[in-house]
Order: sequence, then structure tokens, then C-alpha cells
Amino acid sequence: MALFLLRYFMAFVLLLISACSQANDVHETRFIMGTLVKFTIAPADRHENIDVAAAISAAANEMQRIENAFTIYGDQSNAIKTFNATAPNTAVALPEEVASLLQRALLIKQQSKGAFDPALGGLNLLWGFSASDAPTTPPSAEAITKALPPQHCIAQTSMANGKSGWLRTDTRCLLDFGAIAKGYAIDQGIKILRQHGIKNAIINAGGDIRLIGKHGDKPWRIGIRHPRQQAEMIETLQLEGDVSIVTSGDYERFFIYQGKRYHHLINPQTGWPAQTAQSVTIIARNATLADAWSTAVFIQGKKGMAQQSQFNQQVLLIDQSGKRFGSLKPR
Ligand code: ADP
Ligand code: MG
Repeated sequence: MALFLLRYFMAFVLLLISACSQANDVHETRFIMGTLVKFTIAPADRHENIDVAAAISAAANEMQRIENAFTIYGDQSNAIKTFNATAPNTAVALPEEVASLLQRALLIKQQSKGAFDPALGGLNLLWGFSASDAPTTPPSAEAITKALPPQHCIAQTSMANGKSGWLRTDTRCLLDFGAIAKGYAIDQGIKILRQHGIKNAIINAGGDIRLIGKHGDKPWRIGIRHPRQQAEMIETLQLEGDVSIVTSGDYERFFIYQGKRYHHLINPQTGWPAQTAQSVTIIARNATLADAWSTAVFIQGKKGMAQQSQFNQQVLLIDQSGKRFGSLKPR
């Protein structure tokens, strides 16, 4: 009996210890960019010199600011919506931050041979995956052909006052940062956490992650979701330092119509969802790159994978039959 009680007591103590190491993390969840954004701060950063709650709050505010600045949805005006309403071939100034992310996006468009395209706003609005009412049927083939923008329709130019501006050459050309702004927001969130002295944290925006430091004396554990079994992981990684890991999947926003899956990752050449993969996960040096490239490689399919090593990025692709290609080796 005494032995039983001792065992019971020991089990209870062990349970407390493991629960404590988790309880020492600070967790905070906010709804930003249409997804739950989870902030986790490791115990090492919980000391009197750091106001963890203020740091998280500042990071969340910055991420919300980025959503407001880059979204093409809702009623609030911003520079992107203004640009998308300009007459063709009329140069307008863009805020420094928008111009800079646009330049990064256009470089990835070029490097991915057009698979990633920040000018797909018209098509994305037509498909409606980010609208408040989720679609249940595809648009007509005619409507898609009509909304398809020309391949190069955004250009930097000089304005009448001699300053640099941007124009679109065609009304079908609408900026949409949906495949890159979440990564950028995560990067800015991490930057703000660091400015507050935090060195060990994760920002997880619906599976799009940047982590810094460690989890106590261990690496952080990151699970990659199985594209078809929601509760299952296809991979669990132990990562530390500064790692961004982002997944694009055909399971995030989709509907099934007449037995066929239609999802939110659009092939810019056809205007239809890419039929290449179930999911693509990228590890890159920041979340902006990982976000944009996970979308780009999803559109490109397996042929987009070889290029990733040249950028020192890792890729894991699950093809349409569920087969794995590539690997996510920790650096
Ligand atoms: P999520 O936002 O669901 O994590 P992504 O980062 O892959 O997924 O971005 C998907 C969004 O990007 C779409 O909702 C749409 O706004 C936009 N998009 C779709 N296809 C493309 C594409 N080929 N290039 C650039 N942006 C795209
Ligand atoms: Mg993306």
C-alpha cells in the first residue's frame, strides 16, 4: 500500500514538473490576417527586465497594422486599393514599405518564372476564397479568361514630379499580397519582440512560423500538418536559432465541386487552381521568403524544387497522390 502511494506521489510530482515547464511559456493568441496568430515566449525571457505582455501586444499591433496596409478586402482604404483603382498607365507613388515588398515580390515572380504573381488580385477576388462567404462553385471559364492579367503589367516608372512611382498597364492587373504579407507580418512581429529584448520565441500564424532561440535548454518542436489527416503530423522538427517555416496547402481554403477540389492557389498561366501538390513547406532565412516561395513552389510543382538549394532553402512537397519529395533538414 505504502509503495502504491509512493508511486502515486512520484507520478503526481512528475506530472507537475512537465506541466510546469509548459506553463512557464507565455502564450497569447490573436486573430490577425484571417487566422489565429499564436505568440509563444520561452521561460528564459521571463525576467524582470522584459515586459513580455507589452512586447506581445506591440508585435500583434504591428502585424495588424501590416494587415490593414496590405489587404485588398474590407472597407478601409489603403495604398494597395488606391493603386488597384488607378487608370492604366497612370503613375502613382506607393509608400516606401509597399514599394519595397512589391519589389521583393516581383523578384520572386521573376525567379519563379511567373508562378508567383502579386498581380493576381482580380482573379483572387473572382474566385472569392478570402471573401467572408466562402465559395462553393468555380467561376465560369469565360469569367476566368476575362480576369486573367497580362504577364507583365506592373512597372516602376518616374512620375511627373520626377519621383519614382508605379503603374499598371491593364485594368485586369490588381495587386494582391495574400501570398507574402503574412510572412512579412511575422518577420515584423519577430523584429518587435527582439526590440523588446525577447530572444526565445515563436510566432505561429496558422502554421506559418518563425522561431528564434530555444525552448529552455531544448530546441523548439515544430509539427508539419498532414495535408489530408487534420490531426496528424507528416513531420516533427527540432529547430533552434532563427528559422522560418511556412506551408502552402490545398486544404487551407477549398471547396469540392462535382467531386473535384478547388483551392486558393492559382496558376497565373491558366487562372485555375494549380493541380500540382497537396502541400509545400519551405524553410528559408525569413518568413517573407518562406511564405512567397511556398506558394511559388506549390504552383511550380516538383520542377520548382531544384532551385531551392541555390537559395539555401529547404523544401518538402507532398504531391497529389500523397507522395513526399525533398526534406526539411535542420540547418
Ligand atoms: P495562405 O495565405 O492560405 O497561408 P498562401 O501564402 O499560399 O496561403 O497564399 C495564398 C493567397 O495568395 C491566395 O489567397 C491569394 O490571395 C494569393 N495567391 C494565389 N495564387 C497566387 C499566385 N500564384 N501568386 C501569388 N499569390 C497568389
Ligand atoms: Mg505564401
